[in-house]
Amino acid sequence: MLINLTEILKMAEEKKCAVGAFNTPNLENLTAVLNAAERLNVPVIISHAELHEPVAPLAVIGPVMVAAAKAAKVPVCVHLDHCETLSYMQQALEIGFTGVMYDGSALPYEENLKNTKTAVAMAKNYNCGVEAELGSLASREGGESAGSGPVYTDPEEAAAFCRETGIDALAPSFGTAHGIYKAKPVLDLERVKTISEKTGLPLVMHGGSGVSPEDYRRGIANGLRKINYYSYMAKAGVTAVREMLEREDVTFFHDLALAAQQAMEADAEKAMRVFAGII
Ligand SMILES: [Zn+2]
Repeated sequence: MLINLTEILKMAEEKKCAVGAFNTPNLENLTAVLNAAERLNVPVIISHAELHEPVAPLAVIGPVMVAAAKAAKVPVCVHLDHCETLSYMQQALEIGFTGVMYDGSALPYEENLKNTKTAVAMAKNYNCGVEAELGSLASREGGESAGSGPVYTDPEEAAAFCRETGIDALAPSFGTAHGIYKAKPVLDLERVKTISEKTGLPLVMHGGSGVSPEDYRRGIANGLRKINYYSYMAKAGVTAVREMLEREDVTFFHDLALAAQQAMEADAEKAMRVFAGII
């Protein structure tokens, strides 16, 4: 069942839990995530990030994601992750995406504010919810360094930003990073709580995979309602493929793809259990 970002985050708010948002740049990821969500009977967000354009162009994978969401037995939001150009966002809206993240965090505050307002106005015409980012993470999507280190989100600035833009969810910066963690992340979860209180909006954790279950739980208690999870799931797929190649003489690619899918499904399910508070 296809629903929009605002609706799915409201479901998370009612249950005081978080919805997992998983990038699905190929069919193995997509099947893995939807199977896991259906097995646990939890809502889920499937995302496409602009940086995955060489893996799967939005024009190709987007309609597949929307069709899969409509056919799913659980509520699914189809979301555009880290969109930096409004024309790219327009493409996603036309395909039927029900959530978008406009990411103007690399821009000066005023420009981020102006573009985010435009994104909100555009999305409204398509019954689509909008997430935006303020502050900046230590690394860009894809894992490469942003250069200057993290800029933690200021709660007062966040409150003004949310009020002025009319966004539906905010991604603050509080110590997570994209990609694979080289050291255990130190999160400022008190900041999450303050931002949640000041903005009154559902908050989003980027760089969510690789965070400990305890930190997920504390973050959710403090107002996180969407957790972006991808890198460690994708890594689990690679590990399964490597093990299979070491174990047996594989001829057909589809056998590797299936092994990867099953491993990613198990990894996604583990994450979803923590996000939904299922023991
Ligand atoms: Zn992100």
